Amino acid sequence: MIFARLSGMEKTKPLPISAKLVDKKFLTHDVVELHFESTPAFHFEPGQFVSIVIPGAGPGGRDLRRAYSIASHPEKNVFELCVKLVDGGPGTTYLNALNIGDSFKGIAPYGDFIYKVRPGKSAIFVSTGTGIAPFRSMVFSKIYKENKPAFTKLVFGARDTTDLLYTEELHAQLQPDLLGQFVQVLSRPTSEWGGFNGRVTDWLRAHTTQIIWQETEFYLCGNGAMIDEVKQILSLHGVEKTSIHQEIYYKPKADGRIEE
Ligand SMILES: Cc1cc2nc3c(=O)[nH]c(=O)nc-3n(C[C@H](O)[C@H](O)[C@H](O)COP(=O)(O)OP(=O)(O)OC[C@H]3O[C@@H](n4cnc5c(N)ncnc54)[C@H](O)[C@@H]3O)c2cc1C
Repeated sequence: MIFARLSGMEKTKPLPISAKLVDKKFLTHDVVELHFESTPAFHFEPGQFVSIVIPGAGPGGRDLRRAYSIASHPEKNVFELCVKLVDGGPGTTYLNALNIGDSFKGIAPYGDFIYKVRPGKSAIFVSTGTGIAPFRSMVFSKIYKENKPAFTKLVFGARDTTDLLYTEELHAQLQPDLLGQFVQVLSRPTSEWGGFNGRVTDWLRAHTTQIIWQETEFYLCGNGAMIDEVKQILSLHGVEKTSIHQEIYYKPKADGRIEE
């Protein structure tokens, strides 16, 4: 059982947990969703992450730690992770090898990348790949539903239609009251695609006049190169640093290439 704390004011101290895998499914060819029950249960804010111990995978057989954002909302009685499998990566190989009933040891919850209540302001969530995980937690959480932004856009960037995540549920969650929109953008669609063609940064540049930049909170999650480029755009539009919230999953490649 995961207990929710709704004030959003004080954070829970991270504590050691043992998390048992209770469900697993592939969302795409290389992204797996894992559901865990934690002992003991822990409180978390939407947007926080768990730190997982990868036994003996480090230099000299030492343990490694890897961070994963919680993709489910705090009111659920299991917590869900959404993990992109990285070829030869110790963390993702370990998680993908877990069978139902297996457990990992970790520490949770961590992180300051949480949903901030900002009455009257809009919110734009920008993600690439599994960077969508904390945003799924946020927009399904009670604190978000009870303190909705004036308008929400969740912009998700991927390479191709085979990389899309949470399509139906996020459209259904965000659009019914017309105060939100789930925007999927594809950088290299190989099949017919009626949506936006380009990167998340192209989408922001293409919507300059529709965004009220200084009345919006920006949440950015995914690879560091994308986040740097988005922040350059925000700075051109005079967005205050206090309105920019970020979670970097990994740094850009040496050649500066952005991957979606
Ligand atoms: C706060 C935080 C939260 C995170 N949450 C998530 C999450 O919810 N889901 C998730 O899949 N990852 C997440 N990550 C990344 C995760 O911690 C690992 O870095 C990743 O799973 C790779 O670990 P590995 O040991 O398998 O491979 P490593 O050997 O550590 O990584 C190999 C390379 O893979 C690339 N890489 C790492 N992560 C990704 C990714 N997500 N997509 C594409 N390429 C990647 C990088 O170039 C990296 O150098 C998060 C990272 C941080 C710091």
